[in-house]
Amino acid sequence: MAIDAPMPPVFEVAARFNDAVVGREAKAAAQMAKIYVGLHDELQGRISTLLSTLSDNPGELEIRALWRSLGLEGQVLSGLQSFGDDAASIITQGQAQSIQTAMRDARRLVDVGLPPGIDVSVLEAAGVGWNQLPESSLINMLGRLGDGSPLTDLLAELGPTANRQVRAALVEGVGLGLGPREVALRTRNAFGEGLTRALRVSRTEILRSYREGNRMQWQANPRIVRQWERRAAWDERTCPACIALDGTRYRTEDPGDFHVNDRCAMVPIPVSYRDLGLDIDDPSMEHPTARDWFGGQSAGTQRGMLGAAKFDAWKSGGIDFGDMVQHTTHPDWGRSATVATLGQMGLKR
Ligand SMILES: [Zn+2]
Repeated sequence: MAIDAPMPPVFEVAARFNDAVVGREAKAAAQMAKIYVGLHDELQGRISTLLSTLSDNPGELEIRALWRSLGLEGQVLSGLQSFGDDAASIITQGQAQSIQTAMRDARRLVDVGLPPGIDVSVLEAAGVGWNQLPESSLINMLGRLGDGSPLTDLLAELGPTANRQVRAALVEGVGLGLGPREVALRTRNAFGEGLTRALRVSRTEILRSYREGNRMQWQANPRIVRQWERRAAWDERTCPACIALDGTRYRTEDPGDFHVNDRCAMVPIPVSYRDLGLDIDDPSMEHPTARDWFGGQSAGTQRGMLGAAKFDAWKSGGIDFGDMVQHTTHPDWGRSATVATLGQMGLKR
């Protein structure tokens, strides 16, 4: 069903605000990646030295001894300790910025969602006050740096894990008789996992702080906002689960089911105008969804976004977007909705 109704402006504004946070997060990620690449260059130099020092038929014990005596262990552990400190400060600073931005945006989005000529200050004058949560309490609630938090776990594990995995990749590569270039590729991939993990935590925490900062602010104002709506990015990088859930409404108590690397925005839905004490009919909130947008894309784009198997099943009516969502609950990351596998969709023979 294609809906011709225009998008209410608050959806565009929410998407723009969200993009700004995603863009800021990308800058934090680039900063971390730059530091990490520097560490890797230094490590690669030492690995070359180690390879040229090896006897003709080296065993694992010899490699492990050289790993330590040539300073690779020390370099990985201390390098990642210092990277972890930098990452922690970049991430916590990003979280603090997200919270500050959310404090401002939460109210601005409600302003845009109200009828023309009415904003939160008009409601305040009419006796419906806006409850602004103090920054300190949001930072306390959202800046997860305690035991068991993804950030704390990451920082504790980064060095020891890389030390073990890079050394294992080296032992394996040498054992297989690979040349220095292939060995370097394997150790680079093993070392790179640490950056991947750091970037995942960074992105999750910076976006989560922004979303939760908004949501808690709305939740603190139940006379004005009781629901929020999920708004996916309408572009080719958006996953089928986010396309499927675009337009879903959640109560303000509900943090939602975003996944890692999710770029969806949250749009506050004000209570009805009569509930606000305004004698105005509510405007129609019917608007196009990401499914409508997707339906208007070329077959090539659709196939590229879904993959061949899902595209064929969707095209033939065997599955719809609802079938492409898998809901899970992770002990660290919480509830999330991701793309169902072909097996989960019953498409695997
Ligand atoms: Zn997604």
